[in-house]
Amino acid sequence: MKRIKVPKVQTGDIKKKFGISWYLSLLVTGELFVALALATFLSSWFSDIFTELLHIPLEAWIIIFGLIIGSTLAFVLNRLLLFPIRQLDEAMEEVAKGNFKIRLDERSHYRDIEHIYKNFNLMTRELEANEMLKSDFISNVSHEIKTPITAIEGYAMLLQDSADRSSDDAKYVEKILLNTGRLSELVGNILLLSKLDNQNIDSKAEEFSLDEQIRQSIVLLEPKWEKKSLDFDVELEEVTYRATPGIMMHVWNNLIGNAVKFTPEGSTVRIFLKAKSDNITFTVEDCGPGIDEDAKARIFDKFYQCDSSHKSEGNGLGLALVKRILDIYGGEITTENLPEGCRFTVTLPKK
Ligand code: ADP
Repeated sequence: MKRIKVPKVQTGDIKKKFGISWYLSLLVTGELFVALALATFLSSWFSDIFTELLHIPLEAWIIIFGLIIGSTLAFVLNRLLLFPIRQLDEAMEEVAKGNFKIRLDERSHYRDIEHIYKNFNLMTRELEANEMLKSDFISNVSHEIKTPITAIEGYAMLLQDSADRSSDDAKYVEKILLNTGRLSELVGNILLLSKLDNQNIDSKAEEFSLDEQIRQSIVLLEPKWEKKSLDFDVELEEVTYRATPGIMMHVWNNLIGNAVKFTPEGSTVRIFLKAKSDNITFTVEDCGPGIDEDAKARIFDKFYQCDSSHKSEGNGLGLALVKRILDIYGGEITTENLPEGCRFTVTLPKK
């Protein structure tokens, strides 16, 4: 394969420099001042005639016209020359965010812009095709893995139920079940993420009660919080929301599940749901270790886990999934540390 050397972008240097439009304006203004100086010098020969005719000093006229012509020129240059570059800049920003569906209109007055846009579109087409190939591959492999895992899980369950087992056997069967459970959760999360990565609208949305769903999520997690004797402080306002219930359930299960996981035994998890005029906010607070400032920006990345003591209890996909789901609904998630523990806040826009 042909290798292309990509020059490194030195962001530090770029910050110190000015935009092209600034340089253009500087150039035009500089040119204007030279012209003004020249005109003033020449005008000394004709000043008598002009002053008599217009009753305004010639220099004032030169300055007024000079400024008008100069700024018009700068504006026109800025619009005509820099507009296509700004468009390309915006499109590249989208590509950097992972949107490979973006295309630019290849028709342009400038030959070189047309050429650049054609190459840009070629690049995004290739990137989109690669991305599709990758997500198809991930989803096919995950499907293929899911079937044998389900079979292993089924047989292990049968073994668990059979009466004639030694205590060692029972231990092994339990371990098999625990690990197949983890594997099938991982594969399920990968499949869901790859499906949601290719989805921008929710075609199966329906109106449902959010407070009821959050209550269901707390009940679902009972085996986990009961083991740690956790208390819950729950205040849920009655709120309905339009989305796919099954998908939204992942948001609450992951956030409440994490709070339960990180809260020490015998402590309290606080959950609030509030409806405001233009949005809905959900907050979950725990008394766990909180999140390092450095890790805060990365916890929503796929497979990122910052706490080594709980690594075996998760796969680092939970918050990536939550973020992706909220992106689809135009929602947001923020996290902040509390004197003890941390708080996750989800904001959903009211449609
Ligand atoms: P995992 O399945 O490992 O919990 P997540 O994507 O849900 O993956 O979370 C990523 C990481 O963020 C976790 O490994 C953990 O280190 C950190 N994290 C998430 N929630 C909390 C929390 N409530 N308190 C402390 N750390 C948390």
